Amino acid sequence: MKDISGKHITILGAVRSGLAAAKLAKKLGAIPFVSDYSNADALGDNLSSLDKHAIKYETGGHTDKVFDCDFIVTSPGVPSNSDVLLKAKEKNIKVVSELEFASWFNKGTVIAITGTNGKTTTTSLCAHVLNSCGLKTHLAGNIGVAFSDIVLSVKEDEFVALEVSSFQLDFIESFKPKFALLLNLTKDHLDRYDDNFENYIKSKFNIIMNQNSKDYFIINCDDEIIANFPVRSYNNYCFSMGQAHSDGCFIEEGRFYFRMNHEITEIGGVENLSIKGEHNQYNALAVLTVAKLLNLDNQQILDSFKSFPGVEHRLELVRTINGVEYINDSKATNVDSVWYALRSFDNPIILILGGKDKGNDYSRLKDLVVNNVKKIYAIGSSADKIFEYFKDHVEVEIVNSLELTVQKSINDAVEGDVVMLSPACASFDMFENYEHRGKIFKEAVVNLSE
Ligand code: ADP
Repeated sequence: MKDISGKHITILGAVRSGLAAAKLAKKLGAIPFVSDYSNADALGDNLSSLDKHAIKYETGGHTDKVFDCDFIVTSPGVPSNSDVLLKAKEKNIKVVSELEFASWFNKGTVIAITGTNGKTTTTSLCAHVLNSCGLKTHLAGNIGVAFSDIVLSVKEDEFVALEVSSFQLDFIESFKPKFALLLNLTKDHLDRYDDNFENYIKSKFNIIMNQNSKDYFIINCDDEIIANFPVRSYNNYCFSMGQAHSDGCFIEEGRFYFRMNHEITEIGGVENLSIKGEHNQYNALAVLTVAKLLNLDNQQILDSFKSFPGVEHRLELVRTINGVEYINDSKATNVDSVWYALRSFDNPIILILGGKDKGNDYSRLKDLVVNNVKKIYAIGSSADKIFEYFKDHVEVEIVNSLELTVQKSINDAVEGDVVMLSPACASFDMFENYEHRGKIFKEAVVNLSE
């Protein structure tokens, strides 16, 4: 455990992980100073929390005070190509991410989970499975509770399922997870990497930078980008649909298997998994590999797959009304997630698409839309683009509000249909965030009368 007492630490970002890092620094005897680009109004209650802990801060921009420190801890919300970080580099000031900072004080076993999609689901499932099988596991990272918030409560024989974004991996130094999971890689967040996909991939692979021969790297071998990237760790395990060349877990004819030293063990049927869709089978395979490397019992693993409640806003069944299922997949903020969502249902889908477009290429969805979707409601600032792209393939209607799409669905949906919000876009043009968007959708659905 590093000694930071008396150190002057600047923390960039006064929201969740920044606040947690500042409080951790203070608790450990350091002198934190928090700097945030947003103004005080926007930060609201976050500042009261700093006041309460007598932590100094500035808002509305970064002054040179930022650089008057021993090192900087940066939040994932601060882009690595931002002026303040470039200037810190120029001045040779060490910058670490909140994840790296917290890891200095960790005594437990870390299972770090990264990838473009599925991080939250997999991290939650991992914590659920390990806890259900008797291993005390904390849930942290990009998932609501920052690593800095919980790190001091983790005991030596306990585990941390840690959701890790590439932004956190941009600034690590000694972070060394016992298990590193890389779920998939598709183009997202490229604005943060100067539109350079290679840089984004490299930052994800930082997750194994400090691993040694006692650690494990668990990867999706069906993902072409991961499979072809020439970097590997000491102990590599694969998960895939169908048997791969390496040890790890796979699904064949609806059954889960674990392969170790060429010996194959059957675990049980995929119907044990409570969450729907092929993408969730991949997420489960990643967790199963960890569980088997930890020697957990097959039946207990299957039981925990069954009892997993799922995660809000990810293919969440809100309600079934007159035989129509309403699904909230508000977290689907990119095309790839929608692709998986559309493959998760056999029934005709009425799809609510749209919001703030991040340069989406809808061609990946075309065939699935033609086959599985009976109508699209297009909402938000990308509605025109969606209308233009899909109008020759399926009925598309531009609708002014999300609530209105739910009202309209009463007339458009018949028994056996699925009405799904899976927008492929960010929410910021109409909502505070994807949670807010999902909540509005759910409220509208709950308010529908039978
Ligand atoms: P993340 O934390 O990486 O954003 P989530 O678990 O929150 O991932 O899921 C985000 C969206 O991606 C949801 O719409 C979900 O249904 C979808 N998704 C989940 N797992 C995968 C996967 N393995 N591949 C593609 N999409 C996925």
